[in-house]
Amino acid sequence: MEIIFLGTGGGRINLINQTRATGGFIIFGSKNIHVDPGPGALVHMRKLGLDPLKTNMIIVTHSHIDHISDAGALIEGMSRYGLDRKGILIGGDDSLEGATDGQSISKYHLTRVEKIVNAKPGEEFDFEEGKFIFTKAIHDSFPAFGFILEMDGKKIGYTGDTEYYEGMTDVFDGCDLLILNVMKPIPDRYHGHLTAEDASKLIGRVQPKLVLITHLGMKMIRYPAEKKAAEIEEETGVKTIAAIDGMRISSDQF
Ligand SMILES: [Zn+2]
Repeated sequence: MEIIFLGTGGGRINLINQTRATGGFIIFGSKNIHVDPGPGALVHMRKLGLDPLKTNMIIVTHSHIDHISDAGALIEGMSRYGLDRKGILIGGDDSLEGATDGQSISKYHLTRVEKIVNAKPGEEFDFEEGKFIFTKAIHDSFPAFGFILEMDGKKIGYTGDTEYYEGMTDVFDGCDLLILNVMKPIPDRYHGHLTAEDASKLIGRVQPKLVLITHLGMKMIRYPAEKKAAEIEEETGVKTIAAIDGMRISSDQF
């Protein structure tokens, strides 16, 4: 299994600046799973020589534009230029039904996939080679979620965009790899995202084999993120890497 980061940027300023790209990441294994395809996902896939026709699943953890914008284009790739009904789309009420400000994937694109999964925290979705357990996320008024993916003998936890919540360590207990959206190096008055302090608390208790921090906001990028990752590693004793655009991580590493 391999994970490739198309984009590692987060937050509204980075979204427009594109200091870091915003295309999400892809888990390549028995199934190829594209997670949170924001602006540039398709372009960065092509730049890295990756073929959107080989995507098997697309997962949108909430409908903020930096997680959903390229989903339609990538569904056209997954469904062989839109000619077939192919692949699995996983989203919440907001991205599938427009429950939040109508920011959903278009009705046309919803007809191009073979299966749609409406993810609810606490529920599971089994597929032939593995399963998803959808996890709670608290993020604005969005019905956001994260997940634990069990596939190819590994357990990968992804928080999605969320603030820290009571019980979060139990949710991600037993994960080999944690991918955390850590937008901020220090807390501020805006909630809805993990800070580095929250990440340390989670990592210290879960003790995964490896942590990748991504969805980095401008303050985190300037800190810089590599320094913050080293601080988290020092505090928790867990190998922590600040992801960079185009980074590839092999499952041998976790
Ligand atoms: Zn968001």
